Amino acid sequence: MKLRYLPLLALALASCSHADKTEKASNADTRFDAFKNQFIEALWRQNPDYASSQGYHKYDSLLVIPNAAQRQSDDAFAQKYLASLATFSLDSLTPNNQIDLRLLRNELRAERWYADTLKNWQWNPASYNLGASVGDLLNGRHYPLDRRLRNISDKISHAAEYYAAAKANISDPTKEHTVLALKQNAGGLAVFGKALADSVVKSGLSDAEKKTMMDRVAAARTAVEGYMGFLEGDVLKAGKFRSFRIGKSLFEQKFAYDIQSRFSAAELYQEAQKHKAELLHDMGRRAARLYPKYFPGQKAPADSLALITAVINQLTLKHAPRDGFVDAVKRQIPTLVAFVNDKKLLTQDPSKPLVVRETPLYMRGSGAGASVSAPGPYDKGANTYYNVEPIPADWTPAQAESYLREYNDYTLQILNIHEAIPGHYTQLVYANRSPSLVKSIFGNGAMVEGWAVYAERMMLENGYGNNSDEMWLLWDKWNMRSTLNAVIDHAIQVDNMSEEEVVKLLRREGFQEEAEARGKWLRATLSQVQLSSYFTGYTEIYALREELKKKEGKDFDLKAFNENFLSYGSAPVKYIRELMLRK
Ligand code: ZN
Ligand code: ZN
Repeated sequence: MKLRYLPLLALALASCSHADKTEKASNADTRFDAFKNQFIEALWRQNPDYASSQGYHKYDSLLVIPNAAQRQSDDAFAQKYLASLATFSLDSLTPNNQIDLRLLRNELRAERWYADTLKNWQWNPASYNLGASVGDLLNGRHYPLDRRLRNISDKISHAAEYYAAAKANISDPTKEHTVLALKQNAGGLAVFGKALADSVVKSGLSDAEKKTMMDRVAAARTAVEGYMGFLEGDVLKAGKFRSFRIGKSLFEQKFAYDIQSRFSAAELYQEAQKHKAELLHDMGRRAARLYPKYFPGQKAPADSLALITAVINQLTLKHAPRDGFVDAVKRQIPTLVAFVNDKKLLTQDPSKPLVVRETPLYMRGSGAGASVSAPGPYDKGANTYYNVEPIPADWTPAQAESYLREYNDYTLQILNIHEAIPGHYTQLVYANRSPSLVKSIFGNGAMVEGWAVYAERMMLENGYGNNSDEMWLLWDKWNMRSTLNAVIDHAIQVDNMSEEEVVKLLRREGFQEEAEARGKWLRATLSQVQLSSYFTGYTEIYALREELKKKEGKDFDLKAFNENFLSYGSAPVKYIRELMLRK
């Protein structure tokens, strides 16, 4: 595929040498703002699927063929824009633009590193799935049906080339990603089924267009089936696989690109192990105090882990009724809003209320009980929803009970703080106040997740839940999950920890059910570094707050810290830290 590049008009503007410092700064910012807009336009042209997923639909009809020519084109794209970025000096830009520049530089370097060094396009067959992007286009509401179908028709007309390139790319894959690719492409195949055919029939397309489209759908099915046959036959039967573990050197580098932390992966791993020990210590202390209250007259288990387990199992008996889960969430939101106001933790914006709703059907089944749907960068006026999934009607009483106990009365409050107030939803409202397209697209996941985890602890520290041992014990357990995620991510990818060791660790010291622990193992074999992001972000934000407390002494103000921290948008914590310490 041939790519057109948009000219970088703004780069021709030289800055005026006799201008004073302020004027120079504003010139540089003007030039950088123009650069960002042009860059993002060009990025969408280079990555149509990425564009569609972010709500930018100009290139929906294009399919990128993942072949050598495309990799060369991607390389040229990255080199070109890295060179453009090098013409800006960091000091001449506002803090907001400084962060954007560093995010863009990291993004382009990371892209090259993924392609040239990690080479997941060779070993991860799940990188290729035409059905997934077609499904998004079909279900999207951006264009009327006819236009969506025409885009899909054009896009899938290259399905055979797409999967031919995919096959040619696969070399020495992992077994785990091969199995995943089979599963996901089977799901992708279903996209080229009845629902799509029905849409074509009821559409306003001409008979000739309908015929062309259905021929292309049939060819796309053949291409997907061919790829699956190749994976099942040639790849799985040959049985020659590389390990899914990427090892120390690649893990360190991926950690640096994906998380952008001021810690190295090894340092973070040490920190997570230390935090795990602290949590266990705190849990043991609280469980010992709670035991007589819940087991009057009984002798407490001598083993600390058994003691903690007994108390946790007692506390989780308090939970919402099966048909009252969504209501229980809805009722809590006003309480959280009021608490944040009463304690003056940060200023909230009452003009942007959060809409709590039952998760729409097409989004259900991912296993996430609750999530926040925020409007994308191209859809700013839309509502922000807090999606809460009702207990599925087909669940057995035992399944429902296990789920309800996991989200018991205490943990459900922590979940609401995390997802909604003052967690993800509140962070998002602040981020949207200093709108930066770069940050909405390349926002830092560790900061976003870290803030939500920090918000939980900050609420409890300020007396939410009356500082009760019950609330803190279940927060410890909840926090242990993200801490152990970081521990096992490193232990599996770098230190060869086995499935049985991982499951044992998660069950004993994480107090997790067998099914949760096995699911986590699977996830940890398919991703690298992502499991470390929650703990890293949380640790960095908490450390920054403590650092500023120390520095400012009695002048430290929590509300000012929270608002100031959030004012930089979804940026890596290390950059926010630099800017906050400079003040
Ligand atoms: Zn129950
Ligand atoms: Zn989260």
